[in-house]
Amino acid sequence: FTGNRYESTAAASDSSSQGPPPPVEKYEYQAEVSRLMDLIVNSLYSNKEVFLRELISNASDALDKLRYLSVTNPDLSKDVADLDIRIYADKENGVITLTDSGIGMTREELVDCLGTIAQSGTAKFFKAIKDNKDAGGDNNLIGQFGVGFYSAFLVAERVTVSTKSPKSDKQYVWESEADSSSYTIKEETDPQLLIPRGTRITLHLKPEEKGYADPERVQKLVKNYSQFVSFPIYTWQEKG
Ligand code: ADP
Ligand code: MG
Repeated sequence: FTGNRYESTAAASDSSSQGPPPPVEKYEYQAEVSRLMDLIVNSLYSNKEVFLRELISNASDALDKLRYLSVTNPDLSKDVADLDIRIYADKENGVITLTDSGIGMTREELVDCLGTIAQSGTAKFFKAIKDNKDAGGDNNLIGQFGVGFYSAFLVAERVTVSTKSPKSDKQYVWESEADSSSYTIKEETDPQLLIPRGTRITLHLKPEEKGYADPERVQKLVKNYSQFVSFPIYTWQEKG
């Protein structure tokens, strides 16, 4: 692991029938991620809706990877035939859920991808910030470069990522608060939340951003982005 694992606590659970629940592992973000999160959470950037574009683009990338790999390994797509993206907006609770049936992430990949910054886009973003002398410029840079996955924290106070890779027989849950220097990973144990393959991202919106969980608003935004995505995107108003 490149993440810094320093604590292990037992998960609070009342389903004691199958022995102790798997532990919740706590990891510290890489310093650059903490800095990026700080910038995002405290930014005055007003075009916060870019979060949906970034998450849809990641879902599309994950589906592309799965499709590409299943050409040489047909077993990869045997459990789930449909390659799609599903978005559920729960207005009442201020929650948006985005599910893809893509390649998913192993536990190691969760640490590597969502705990550290490896991708070039964000590296460019940092360089631009360094080059940018006046601090107020940061807000424009978020839109200019895109801050990928972490843009979820423009609108969410808590983000949960439950993901299942074909390379792993277990599904893992990554979770972080917007103002935290750490995140947690645990095994998904709730049978109702298990998915055959892919990733489900749950955004618990900040009180002042709950308006984004309006299904009509989500549908409008999705319409704009979906023309660049080669997989179907379904939006739901009610669970089921
Ligand atoms: P980028 O898309 O430029 O690589 P992001 O911050 O958007 O940067 O995402 C970081 C990484 O997290 C991705 O490269 C990918 O490995 C992983 N990731 C994010 N979302 C998903 C997803 N829905 N399914 C699988 N992997 C994902
Ligand atoms: Mg991305």
